[in-house]
This record gives sequence, structure tokens and C-alpha cells, in this order.
Amino acid sequence: MKFNKNEIKNSLTIEQIEDIVAELGGEPINLGDHLTCRTICHGGDSHKLYYYENTKLFKCFTACDESFDIFDLVLKVQSNQGQSWTLYNAMMFVINFFSLDFENDFYNDANSLPDWQIFSKWSKQQFTDDKSKIVELKFYDDKVLNNLPQPHILNWEREGITKEICDARNIRYDPKNYGIVIPHYDINGQLIGIRERTLIKEDEKYGKYKPAILAGQMYNHPLGYNLYNLNNSKNNIQQVKKAIVFESEKSCLLFASYFGLENDISVACCGSSLISYQVQLLLSLGIQELIIAFDRQYQEIGDKEWKQWTTKLNKIHDKYGKYVQISYMFDKEHKLGYKDAPIDCNKDTFIELYQQRIII
Ligand SMILES: [Zn+2]
Repeated sequence: MKFNKNEIKNSLTIEQIEDIVAELGGEPINLGDHLTCRTICHGGDSHKLYYYENTKLFKCFTACDESFDIFDLVLKVQSNQGQSWTLYNAMMFVINFFSLDFENDFYNDANSLPDWQIFSKWSKQQFTDDKSKIVELKFYDDKVLNNLPQPHILNWEREGITKEICDARNIRYDPKNYGIVIPHYDINGQLIGIRERTLIKEDEKYGKYKPAILAGQMYNHPLGYNLYNLNNSKNNIQQVKKAIVFESEKSCLLFASYFGLENDISVACCGSSLISYQVQLLLSLGIQELIIAFDRQYQEIGDKEWKQWTTKLNKIHDKYGKYVQISYMFDKEHKLGYKDAPIDCNKDTFIELYQQRIII
């Protein structure tokens, strides 16, 4: 399988690499022109894996003692977990992780790269063959969760997430690592990954959320190949033919706390992008409206971030608008704080934003 590996590699910013390494459990620290990461390449614990922005390469200064690119890193991490991925799998993982948009971002190159056909093939496959999945998810035994307690999480309760909903969603507490444990299930309720929200301020520099490590096993999964909470909300979504897509798990928990389990039509894409596979999951439930409820990622209407944010939303419409009606929850009147999800303010504000949602 040949397509332009270097093109993709060179297009990734150090922040994007930071995101994907965090997802792989590498706890990256961004030092501007380079990252230092946990040596996840060989399953080590020291922070001796470096990534250099100028060469776009990683170097492991302990066991591997070699340089390699992001695709090799994905392969190494998967292989450490007993998965035998091909380079093609690793590329699809990277492409999907960032929702790299071959129709837009790379459109201009399409004609000059003969091997670009692979992307149009991939695009078609997404919507014609429901069962096609490039990456096979690994299932975990959820017994590992049973040993973890379900205490009151006071911070969350103050924000409006009830204990009942936390229990219903099997939220746990990890007393060893001081983290809130968030199990991720696939649409059929199989455990496919576990994320952990650290409660240690100092550890937030490695990212507030990361894959949980319980009894020596890391429970990471490709977030783009799933929608958080879909196992719980799928029947309601099927009934009302609408789904609300949030960025984070907490928004789904808050939604169910406000509106009840029986009205829960929320899912979270667990990142700021929505990929084809996730849209396909929702289309398979017969939805007629896809409601985008992303975080307010701008300070002022018209600022630089606002332009990036609206471009991103427009892209979602360009990509999926022909398959389903897309609407946006948009905070015109500045009711939300910077980086707030539409549900973060309070129930009434959410309802207002919902009623005023914009349909393109
Ligand atoms: Zn290594």
C-alpha cells in the first residue's frame, strides 16, 4: 500500500504530535521545538523519548536507540500491546486521529500524486460498507473495573453531574493514581478502553485525560473509532432520529444528569474533530439531524480562533451535509466562557442554545 507518508508526516504540527502521543500514553511535555515523552516505543517508563519538530522524528535514548517517525511509533506501541498492525493501519490511525481531510486539505495535491486514489477509495468505503472497519478494536474484560470504588465525586457533583448518572455510566475512582476512571464501551457495550481524569494538579501538564493504567495494563484505544456513550444513547437516538455530539465525556454525563437517562441522545467524539467512522455509526441508526455541540474555542466573534473554529464547523458540513442535516449549537450572545461546552453553563442556557441552533 503506497501513499504519501512524508506529506502527512511533514504536515503535522508539534501540537498535533503532542496530542497523539498523549493518546498513546506517552505523557508528552512540549518544550517548543521538541517534546519529551515516556518511552512508550518499547514500553519503558523514563521520559527519554524525544520528538524534534525540525526533523519530524522521534529518538529513543534508551532501549530502542534509534530514530523513527510517528507511524513507526504507532506501530511500536500497538506491537507492545500484542497487536500486529500494518503500516496502512498506522497511517489510517493517524489520518483519522486528526481527521485529516483529504478532500480539502490535500485536494490540491490529489492530481499530482497518483497514489492518492487510496483516499477516495477510503472515502467511499466509509459510507457504502457499514461493516468495513480499518482498525479492529480490542475488547477488554470489564472485571478490572469491579474492584474500583464508586465514591461521590464532589467536583463533578458541584458542576451538576449526579452520582446516579456516574453510577449508571460505571464511573469509578482509581485510588492508586488519584484519577476518575471513565470506561469507554463500543456501540454494543463491549469495553474497548478506559480513560482517566487525573485529580493531581501537577500531573495535568501531561494532559488532564489519558488512558488508564490499571494493574500494569494500559487501556488505550483509538478514540476516533468510537463514540463515547453511544451504547447508552443509541435507542433514544434511533427513536428521535437526532444525536448531539459533544467533545468530552463529561458533557454526556451532564446531559443525562439534566435530562434523564431516558432522554439521553448524547455522544462524545472525545476530541475536537469528528471523523467519518463516527458519523457512519450515527447514520447507521437512521438519524436525520446531527447536532454539533462543540466547545466554544474562541474569545471573540471574528478573532483568529473564531475563524479556525468556524472553518472546522464548515468542513463538517461540507463532508457530511449530503448524508444528514447538520446543525450547530452556537453561542452568539456570549453566554458561555472560553472553551466551555454548550452544556457547561447551566441547563437553561443549554436549552436556549439548543432551541437557537443553527441549521445550514
Ligand atoms: Zn524506545
